[in-house]
Amino acid sequence: MNKFYITTAIPYVNAKPHIGFALEIVQTDCLARYRRLKGDDTYFLTGTDEHGVKLYKTAKEEGIPPQKFADDNAEKFKALKDLLALSNDDFIRTTSDLHKRGAQKLWSKLVEKGDIYKDKYVGNYCVGCESYIANSDLVDGKCPNHDKAPEKLEEKNYFFKLSRYSDQIRKAIETDELLILPKSRKQEMLNIIGEGLPDISFSRPKKILPWGITVPGDDDQVMYVWCDALSNYITALGYADDDEKVSRYWPADVHVIGKDILRFHAGYWIGMLMSAGISIPKAIYVHGFITSEGKKMSKSLGNVVDPVEYVEKYGVDSLRYYLLREIPTCDDGDFSKTRFEAIYDGELANNVGNLFSRVCAMTEKYFDGKVPPATDGKDVVSEVATAHREYHENFEKFDLKAALEAVLRLADFANGYVEENRPWELAKKDTNKLADVMYNLLEMLAHISYMLQPFIPNAAEKMFAQLSLTEQNFPAEDKWGILKEGSEISKGEPLFPRLDS
Ligand SMILES: [Zn+2]
Repeated sequence: MNKFYITTAIPYVNAKPHIGFALEIVQTDCLARYRRLKGDDTYFLTGTDEHGVKLYKTAKEEGIPPQKFADDNAEKFKALKDLLALSNDDFIRTTSDLHKRGAQKLWSKLVEKGDIYKDKYVGNYCVGCESYIANSDLVDGKCPNHDKAPEKLEEKNYFFKLSRYSDQIRKAIETDELLILPKSRKQEMLNIIGEGLPDISFSRPKKILPWGITVPGDDDQVMYVWCDALSNYITALGYADDDEKVSRYWPADVHVIGKDILRFHAGYWIGMLMSAGISIPKAIYVHGFITSEGKKMSKSLGNVVDPVEYVEKYGVDSLRYYLLREIPTCDDGDFSKTRFEAIYDGELANNVGNLFSRVCAMTEKYFDGKVPPATDGKDVVSEVATAHREYHENFEKFDLKAALEAVLRLADFANGYVEENRPWELAKKDTNKLADVMYNLLEMLAHISYMLQPFIPNAAEKMFAQLSLTEQNFPAEDKWGILKEGSEISKGEPLFPRLDS
């Protein structure tokens, strides 16, 4: 059995979850479900980043103790599991004891290696980025990501000798030992590495930031928030206590992240692991950002998309479907209500949903709700095989949109097959042919529902029930003859009722 360990980045909890993180966590869930369906020993981790200047300041402004503030907001992120039908196996909080002890253990490994030293730091710090920012990266004296002037800091901090690992990191990326997808992001990271990565400031004095994980052996310093947060990928497995989960799941197979935090993952994190003598993750998948009605989302424009609102109105599968279907997996995309409704009606209600209800209803009408005798499927097997091939290939390439489109093409084909063969006419003149046509259609539905499961898990569950499909006979590959003669088919409620009804 293969193991598959996948993670999301852990968002700051200083605001409630937004649609951009919903995209990331739904993409990750889709990949995790895909691997689980294939039978891999899958472990899916998400969580929350609860330290850092930003959280400390926000809590202070609201007059709430930082831990209480973090506790309250972490609950909103935990609630995503039900809201978005997620299958995560664990949820790590960076204020948990398990995480703190693990992060301190990892720090100590870097010290043992001689990679941590103390020095004075003078520089610009962008609180929005939780990062120092080089003068050369400023635009008109401001951080280009946050349009804000950074704070000037002069501190005595610990530094991490990242420069020592520059060449090793570059090599890992060049050879795809650390696979970065899409390829454009791999090139971007190689450009960032350029002539070499600089050492990084790795702690803050507690008198400036009394909120974070204490540096082992120095009660006056807390760890830099990125050093703390990145460790979560291994601390969550029980790194502090050498839990069996570490040997079972580490290294991570995929870290799914947003395009703005590539350098922290493909640079800092990899350097930390190399220093500690821990194997590095196998892949980093990078997604883009979401605009709203063609514009950057902002409170002042009033165009912030609230995932809760969409789930309540259209159902969780519809929101997942939109995010995976309409937003290019590795690129920026737009969230538009008109487009959302068009896709819902056009693809979910009319294409997939209607195909299902028609075929199941005809099976009930003509065959008393029982699967007719199996065929060799000769008119349709090549379509099924093509869909499977494209589906699996695109999952490997982190193109979830293209994987979904392969399934949709099979659904289009099946709809065309209904129109071409007109079962309602065959029922009057050729019942043998009718049985063959209906078997072929039901078998295609089995493949379609299986392939849709990582995208729209709730609807897929209903489809499996309607087709009496169980884990024992899941069509993981393009094999034919899944459904057995006489097995029950039920009509069920419409999977995606039309919006105007
Ligand atoms: Zn910034």
